[in-house]
Amino acid sequence: MEQGAYAVLTKLQEQGYEAYLVGGCVRDKQLLRPVKDYDIATSAKPEQVLDLFERTIPTGLQHGTVTVVLEAHHYEVTTFRKEAAYEQFRRPAEVQFIDSLHEDLQRRDFTMNAMALDQFGNLIDPFGGLSDLEHGLLRCVGNASERFTEDALRMLRCIRFSAEYGLEVEAATWNALCEHSLLLKHIAMERVRMELERMIAGADPVKALGLLVSSGILRETKQALKLAQLDPEHMPAAIHLLLESDARWTYLFLSMDLNAAEIEADMRVLTFSVHQIKRVYKAAAAFYMLREGLLLNQHECVQDPALEKKLELLWKLGALTYGKAAWLTIYDILAVEPRWMESHGEAGSFMLRRGKEWLDALIVDSLKQLQVGGKELLGHMNKPPGPWITEVLNHLLQETALGRLPNETGLLIAEAVQFVKHHNL
Ligand code: ATP
Ligand code: MG
Repeated sequence: MEQGAYAVLTKLQEQGYEAYLVGGCVRDKQLLRPVKDYDIATSAKPEQVLDLFERTIPTGLQHGTVTVVLEAHHYEVTTFRKEAAYEQFRRPAEVQFIDSLHEDLQRRDFTMNAMALDQFGNLIDPFGGLSDLEHGLLRCVGNASERFTEDALRMLRCIRFSAEYGLEVEAATWNALCEHSLLLKHIAMERVRMELERMIAGADPVKALGLLVSSGILRETKQALKLAQLDPEHMPAAIHLLLESDARWTYLFLSMDLNAAEIEADMRVLTFSVHQIKRVYKAAAAFYMLREGLLLNQHECVQDPALEKKLELLWKLGALTYGKAAWLTIYDILAVEPRWMESHGEAGSFMLRRGKEWLDALIVDSLKQLQVGGKELLGHMNKPPGPWITEVLNHLLQETALGRLPNETGLLIAEAVQFVKHHNL
């Protein structure tokens, strides 16, 4: 992919244009990190780029961006530009094309993102990005207050980059961030969410959360968030050990003692997808079901010989209520945060040892998997349709899931007939 990027540079140069690698790829190369994508800045105008290459996609012509396709790799080629008038503390929709690389680098957010490489591999670094990286510093290009006032999203990018790259935010940059945090109210919640998602999925979410908390910036979002109440005592300390982002978000919200409804409300405000919200909501609800179940058990004698069986039942019935995936999420969280189960003594160690097995042992965990459906039940019973069907199906699901009834159509129907008779449905 890198070879292709240099081929694009060379071709532009041969036609008399200037062209450089810029932005994230230059930064990541200096850090010897894997490069995700190669972005190119050029003096050529978008139409000229479109003319020059065989396969192109007019990705964002009004921003000067053309995607060049070379051997299945995509390169974003963007005309040198500046962002003249910032509107409402956001980056403008319109840009102005210019002839100078230096000015193009000047409009960028951080010194480490404002470096360029020419086709011979020479670094162009007018703002001391490399030196900042060597000193472990994240610094705005030029005046930090101006940078954050121009585009308030940069404050969240600052926190994300600081956490992801393990950099200290340089003092003047940090002071400007804290001073201007209230400008975040101009940024759409969707963009806030996208930055937060990257922080939470990133290398050091605790560091990102720590910076969010100490800057107070989460209190300044366009719409209020419960998440803004996070404090140093409720940090999800083991979050980096979780692999799935659903588990990370669930763990974060549970660390704050938010209930399932509060979690759902925050995720809605943050414009998470319906599916993401549902998954995290169910996992949180499963956690509270588990906690309630454990509290009930504590009333009984401490050395309860049937404890393990009771827990197994709680996990299995819980999985039928909120889904197996939700319980697997809870299992993963408890595995990295065993302190949460400390007060539950033996129960805690049983669950950590056996929880996954219990879930894996579920032969069925949703009505869809049952070898009988509402239609078949109706066909076998001389009854008009009604709520009894759901009741019977749920009973059948529970019996099969717990291994007390094979998942075979004939046996299921026989059980259904008995159940209806006994319960006068
Ligand atoms: P990553 O893709 O890993 O987040 P990146 O540096 O490539 O890192 P992008 O958002 O892809 O980030 O942006 C590419 C480059 O564009 C950045 O390196 C930076 O120079 C510039 N840039 C992006 N967003 C902004 C912004 N809000 N303000 C100023 N410059 C920006
Ligand atoms: Mg990028």
